[in-house]
Amino acid sequence: MSTATREERLDVLVVGGGPVGGCAAALLQCAMRSSARPLSVAVLEPARLAAPAAGEPLDARVSALSRASERILASVGAWDRLNGHRAQPYERMRIWHEAAGAGALVFDAADAGEPNLGTIAENRMVQVAVIDAFEAAGGRMIEGELVGLRVQDELVEAQTTAGGFRARLVVGADGARSAVRGAVGLTAESSSYRQTAIVANVSTERPHERTAWQRFPGAGTLALLPLADGSSSIVWSCDAQSAAKRLAASAAEFERELQRESDDALGALRLITDRASFPLSRMAAHRYTAHRCALIGDAAHVVHPLAGQGVNLGLLDAASLAEVVTAAALQGEDPGAQRILRRYERWRKSETLLMAAAIDAFDRFLAHGSGPLSRLARRGLAWVNRSEEIKRIFIARALGLSGELPLAARVPSRTARVPPQTASVPPRTASVPPRTARVS
Ligand SMILES: Cc1cc2nc3c(=O)[nH]c(=O)nc-3n(C[C@H](O)[C@H](O)[C@H](O)COP(=O)(O)OP(=O)(O)OC[C@H]3O[C@@H](n4cnc5c(N)ncnc54)[C@H](O)[C@@H]3O)c2cc1C
Repeated sequence: MSTATREERLDVLVVGGGPVGGCAAALLQCAMRSSARPLSVAVLEPARLAAPAAGEPLDARVSALSRASERILASVGAWDRLNGHRAQPYERMRIWHEAAGAGALVFDAADAGEPNLGTIAENRMVQVAVIDAFEAAGGRMIEGELVGLRVQDELVEAQTTAGGFRARLVVGADGARSAVRGAVGLTAESSSYRQTAIVANVSTERPHERTAWQRFPGAGTLALLPLADGSSSIVWSCDAQSAAKRLAASAAEFERELQRESDDALGALRLITDRASFPLSRMAAHRYTAHRCALIGDAAHVVHPLAGQGVNLGLLDAASLAEVVTAAALQGEDPGAQRILRRYERWRKSETLLMAAAIDAFDRFLAHGSGPLSRLARRGLAWVNRSEEIKRIFIARALGLSGELPLAARVPSRTARVPPQTASVPPRTASVPPRTARVS
């Protein structure tokens, strides 16, 4: 941890050391480390997260990381820090709709010649892993919050609770309510889904079989994501009123309804963490860049969690921005030049808009709709399941390996390798344990 003085000039100030900002900083730091003139990169984050102690229970906030994300994280040495006993690769996805009876769409990694379809990891571990990788490469973490920005021709002055900084490029990675976005006057379109996601970890009667289960129970969507200790993480998105009832229900009532809505896929379910809730909205910044400023991750776009793409899109932003900035810096160009930032914006905005539209279509037609298009979409699940060719296209999407990828996402990582452990959780048997967890 360090501070900088007002006189000190940075090349890049990344505001927000979440999974996306931390990764962007690590990519910039690593790429320029051995150059004749390495970039001076700092991350501003209010408080540094600590890695969980060995044996600490798994967090309920997890993300499904795609193969593209795995490769990006591996390229800066963060994957080995993250991919331990606390992370769970999943080999299958099973998607089904309540109206489609027993017909399910099943994706199997083996069919695509892949070791897995992705990895479920705690958000906290991703964040710790990227910041550790950034610091290991010589980057500096500043504990503080952004207060304001003053944009000038040659640099940006940042006022923060840790003092003032000047940088040639400011990267806004400060999440959905980005202060950077507001400070540089970038506007965004946002609207509520009028839905809430309930998140918790549950133990299950039957083993999760390294499978990500996703059911559309008529209204909303319910995902059961396999965790490394044998338990599962639920992400249950439903209208705000139903969510309020489910959050207020007793644990036993909640568990009974959850088992019913999951179609008894894993048998009886028991809460092992508190229930947390997240009101869901979509957001898309009209522009991803302004003079000497670029937005990445949730600061630029927020999508519905039903497809588990938020972090994955953000890590692709981070890798794309780092690629164009380092290519320019290696040529001796100004890393904050508008020409360079515009390249990043054109690249990522089109990719993200496409994904956001696809996710919204899933939400509209599979999770909530009842008209002819919804009926068609439900039948489409069975139809896709019968076509190996189309399934392969979907698997490539799920792995994050389609579209115009940054170089870091194209280089295969050592997926099969089991890295040394830093933090672990004791294995949990798949059976339903007696209830001890506190319930919100
Ligand atoms: C219920 C739910 C389930 C999800 N599941 C998945 C999934 O399976 N897969 C997936 O890919 N995505 C998923 N997502 C989305 C994912 O969580 C987000 O897209 C991701 O966290 C965005 O990362 P980020 O680094 O851009 O922003 P954030 O994680 O919001 O990080 C922003 C960082 O900026 C810091 N910050 C904020 N303001 C300031 C300031 N003024 N000064 C300095 N620092 C600041 C914050 O402290 C924070 O560390 C899910 C989201 C929800 C709600």
